[in-house]
Amino acid sequence: MLALRQHFAARQHEVLALTCALVEAESPSGDPEGSAEVVSLIAKAASGISGVNSVERFANENFGEHLAVRAFANEGNSRSIMILGHTDTVHPRGTIKERPWRTAGNRIYGPGIFDMKVNCAVALEALRACEAVGLQTRSAVTILLTCDEETGSPGGRPLVEAEAKKSRAVLVLEPPASGGRAKTARKGTGMFTIEVQGRAAHAGLDPEKGVSAVLELAMQTVRLHELNDPQAGTTVTVNVVHGGTHSNVIPAEAHAEIDLRFTSADEGAKTERRILTVAPFNPEATINVHGGINRPPLERNQSVKSLYAHARALASLLDFDLGEASVGGASDGNFVGALGVPVLDGLGVQGDGAHAAHEHILCDDIPTRGALLAALIATL
Ligand SMILES: [Zn+2]
Repeated sequence: MLALRQHFAARQHEVLALTCALVEAESPSGDPEGSAEVVSLIAKAASGISGVNSVERFANENFGEHLAVRAFANEGNSRSIMILGHTDTVHPRGTIKERPWRTAGNRIYGPGIFDMKVNCAVALEALRACEAVGLQTRSAVTILLTCDEETGSPGGRPLVEAEAKKSRAVLVLEPPASGGRAKTARKGTGMFTIEVQGRAAHAGLDPEKGVSAVLELAMQTVRLHELNDPQAGTTVTVNVVHGGTHSNVIPAEAHAEIDLRFTSADEGAKTERRILTVAPFNPEATINVHGGINRPPLERNQSVKSLYAHARALASLLDFDLGEASVGGASDGNFVGALGVPVLDGLGVQGDGAHAAHEHILCDDIPTRGALLAALIATL
């Protein structure tokens, strides 16, 4: 473990150089050029590692490319483990100009650095570390990086699931919870759009002839929020609202986006049904709801617990107490968990501010995280 940590400490400069290049090549979800640029940088870095057997790029229309880096395949090991991550970010193009790469003591700031460009670089370095330290891995390794994770992985999901089915274990490099804790449970998610049709009328001359889609949507919003059940771990929130045309017109149209989170599949299905079947308050308004559950919950089952216990034991050899957390955010790890494949999430480098302006990593965590990841690769 100490040799692995020393390897990462000695290679910190190279890991950060690749991370910086990845951060500066902006890749918001749905930006095919940005995605291809980042994937090219990672593919090039991967091709310089001798244990790498192949680098595959998968085109995904309107998003860019997913990437699979396969390593350590040999006749003796038919088993494989997957390191799972993503190359897209939530930061629109141009963010790098407003908030450039910046070091302040132990912190490095940059859009998408924590979620999760640094971890793309750390994953590759973990392969190199295993070789450098002379570890004989027991399994082949596939690093799979999707390009649409931040939008719910519409294109990445089949790849993640196909690869997970071939894997003995999946290590997800999403950012850890505070204090560096691994994520052993995640809520499932649903996304919906509610569309309301009313009737336009002059707001001053004959408002009574109109049917306000905005009023109807406002009432629906209140009703949807009543579906929240903190005890059961269910949240329903209306987070984007659009409606109306002019200040002097009773609005004929309004729509909103609804976010659903839940901890059990049953509770999710029940709430999904309620959202999809809301009835209008005003019988003259029409309502259309579409969408649904898109990620199942990642439940803390026995295989998750065992994998966590194994990682925790390895971390203790680095004098690091790997805690665990249950969180509301979903990741591609949710798809893996639903297949019953052992999965451990939140193994990325520590930091804070995912999706926010103060997004940063803690540099001195790179050698510890890197060593832990490499040790997991070598022992699973
Ligand atoms: Zn992420």
